[in-house]
Amino acid sequence: MANWLVTVNYDEFDLEKAFDALPTIYWKNSTTTEGKGLQINDIVYVYVTQPISKVMYQFKVIGHADQSEYPLAQKAFWKDRTQLDSIKGYAVFEKLKKVDKATLSFDYFVQNKLIPDAPIQGRRTDRDKASNDPIRIFLAHIVNEFNNETIATDYPDEADLENKSFPEGAKQTVQVNRYERNPVARAKCLEIHGIRCEICKMSFAETYGTFAKDFIHVHHITPLHQISESYEVNPETDLIPVCPNCHAMLHRQENGIPMTVERLKLLYEVSRSSKI
Ligand SMILES: [Zn+2]
Ligand SMILES: [Zn+2]
Repeated sequence: MANWLVTVNYDEFDLEKAFDALPTIYWKNSTTTEGKGLQINDIVYVYVTQPISKVMYQFKVIGHADQSEYPLAQKAFWKDRTQLDSIKGYAVFEKLKKVDKATLSFDYFVQNKLIPDAPIQGRRTDRDKASNDPIRIFLAHIVNEFNNETIATDYPDEADLENKSFPEGAKQTVQVNRYERNPVARAKCLEIHGIRCEICKMSFAETYGTFAKDFIHVHHITPLHQISESYEVNPETDLIPVCPNCHAMLHRQENGIPMTVERLKLLYEVSRSSKI
């Protein structure tokens, strides 16, 4: 099994739409490229060129196909079909994951000197590469970022927000973050409670459109002093989905008293009804 970085030109192919619409993606697999091309079980990370300029997709190679097997359904997603007829062989990609992280952006790669040979183009693999090879190090960063992608979106301000709310100890801050970021507990919480904010009832899909449909924070409501060594988070009773605004307010104190879910709901209802 090898890892690959493959570039998809934004102006040529609409991968974002194709990823949602198609069960598998067929991608050109020239045997003249390094590492003798994409092989079954290889993992492919796709970098989309500007204006996206990010590695956003993870696929697994599950087969090969020739020109006659190219699915008609996928042709529709080509913005520029000029080179399509010249492609002889394809690798068949199974969709694994889509993420959107600042740590997978071109700017981040440049700032952290991760790109051995900018700009990013063509395809690169870590197959048969030494452990200190720049390509291997670059791919290791990408693999790591996808594996650590427990939540579909970064929480840019939350660490800071937690510090302000619990000045009494950094240890507690870590605990809260851990429960709220636990991917399994988070998924269960959203399965049980849905993805509407428990306080203000806003939904990201309704407010911003389908691209935002998975976005929501998860708040851990069990008071920290009740948490013992053997504590196990219960996604039904300990976690609630909240929008970032309400989440920030839940981590604020009111006259020195920690905010509760019930109290914030009340404050929200009161201020809303007084406006009407
Ligand atoms: Zn809210
Ligand atoms: Zn919280």
